[in-house]
Amino acid sequence: MKIEVITLFPELVEVVTRHGMPRVAVEQNALELSCRNPRDFAQNKWRKIDERPFGGGPGMVMQAEPLAQTIEAAKAGIGSEAKVLMMSPQGERMDQRWFERLSKESGLIVLCGRYEGIDERLVTSAVDVELSLGDFVLSGGELAAMVLIDGIARLLPGVLGHAESAGQDSFSSNGLLDHPHYSRPEVWRGQAVPEILMSGDHAKLARWRLKRALGRTWLRRPDLLDKLELDATQQSLLREFVAELKEGT
Ligand code: SAH
Repeated sequence: MKIEVITLFPELVEVVTRHGMPRVAVEQNALELSCRNPRDFAQNKWRKIDERPFGGGPGMVMQAEPLAQTIEAAKAGIGSEAKVLMMSPQGERMDQRWFERLSKESGLIVLCGRYEGIDERLVTSAVDVELSLGDFVLSGGELAAMVLIDGIARLLPGVLGHAESAGQDSFSSNGLLDHPHYSRPEVWRGQAVPEILMSGDHAKLARWRLKRALGRTWLRRPDLLDKLELDATQQSLLREFVAELKEGT
């Protein structure tokens, strides 16, 4: 997948591929990230791409023309069919489903705003989707773009070590939160790991993990359970979890 990020701060966004899964994705040629700076398309010698808002008011607005030209250059690079995503607090909330959907695209153009935002005429004529990180206002779209790139990179084929690893994560295909994880030592500061993890009984272990995933989701995110139709096994595992909780076991 090729991702072109349009940003006034390329050096900030490029950091995302220096570590972790995005780095692995780049090393495996599953991801190619490049940044374009709209200042390179400024209409003046000062490389200025912002202007005062018509109608008055505080702050500056990113101008349409340099951004349009940057988007055109990005499309020439990765294909005219590439979707243009704009980072915006007014957009649809990004979630795992968005990352899954976008990870199947061959190219994406990610537009990062700054200042008060971007001239609305550019947004209506060149942006396909507006995506938000959450109900708060950041000073720029770069951090949101980096979150998007990280979330997508780990879903690209061949990037995660174990194919099933993304499948059991929270918000993945089964719709549940992940089960808890334990590692060495077996006893840490007086706390032993659950015995079942040491048993080597794979069927029992799978049941235990599913029960914990169901239980955690029930406790922490009942809204996720409301969206699911639990099968008979899942229902009985969740009943067991609730009963055990009530017994204090
Ligand atoms: N005046 C705008 C906010 C501008 S903030 C408003 O109130 O809606 C400047 C830029 O930061 C935005 O153009 C956007 O690209 C980015 N940004 C701010 N908050 C964001 C969020 N929650 N999610 C994604 N991008 C955000």
